[in-house]
Amino acid sequence: ILNIQNLKKSYSSGSKQLTVLENISFDIEENETFAIVGPSGSGKTTLLGLCAGLDQADSGSVELCGTLINDLSEDQRALLRNEKVGFVFQDFQLIPTLTALENVAVPLELRGDKSATKVGKELLEKVGLGDRFDHYPSQLSGGEQQRVALARAFSTKPDILFADEPTGNLDEETGKRVVELLMELNADSGTTLVIVTHDMELAKKTQRILRLKGGRVLETINA
Ligand code: ATP
Repeated sequence: ILNIQNLKKSYSSGSKQLTVLENISFDIEENETFAIVGPSGSGKTTLLGLCAGLDQADSGSVELCGTLINDLSEDQRALLRNEKVGFVFQDFQLIPTLTALENVAVPLELRGDKSATKVGKELLEKVGLGDRFDHYPSQLSGGEQQRVALARAFSTKPDILFADEPTGNLDEETGKRVVELLMELNADSGTTLVIVTHDMELAKKTQRILRLKGGRVLETINA
C-alpha cells in the first residue's frame, strides 16, 4: 500500500541546506501495522508527511495506495488523501470554530453521509468523550483534543492511517485505550497503520518497527 524508494529531503535555513532524510526505502503491505521510531530530530515527522503526500521529497519516489504521488499536483494529492488516507497530526489541527462533535461529523457530512452526527457521537463515545460533544477545541485538554483528532481520522475508515505520536499527550490509561482503538480499526476495517511514536510499548504492538537515526534507516525489525 506504500512503497518508498530512495527518498531524500532537505530544508534550507538561511544559506544552509540541511539534509533531514537520505536514502530511505521501505514497503508497507496492506493491513500491516508499522511503527517509525527514533530520537527527536531524526526525521520521523518529516518522513510521515512525505509518505502521506502532505509534503514533497527532493528526490526518490512515493507510491501510496497504488498511485505514484511524486508528480501529482497539490490538488490531486489532496483528492487522494481525502479518499483513502487518514492523518492524525502531532498538533491535532482541529477546527477551532467547530465543536468536538462537528469536528468529527463534518468530514462525513461533506461526503454526503446522512448518519454523520450519529457516527460522530459513537466515535466520540468510543474515545471516552461522550460528555464533551459540545466543547470547542479551546475548551478541551490536550489529550482530549488528541482523542477528537483520532475520532475524526477514524470516521472515514481510511485505507491507511498515519498517526504522529498518537499517545504523546495522553496519560497511561487513556494512551492504552487509544492504542486499543487503533488496533481495533486495523482489525475491523483493515486500515493500514503507520505510527510515529516514542512509546516503545505502542511500537511493540505493531508488526514491524523502522528505526530512524540522523535521517537514515538504521534497521527495520519485526516487533
Ligand atoms: P521529534 O521526535 O522531536 O518530533 P522528528 O524525528 O519527528 O522529531 P522532524 O520533525 O522530522 O523530526 O525534524 C527533523 C529535522 O528537520 C529537525 O532537525 C528539524 O529541525 C528539521 N526541520 C523540520 N521541519 C523543518 C522546516 N520546515 N524547516 C527547516 N527545518 C525543519
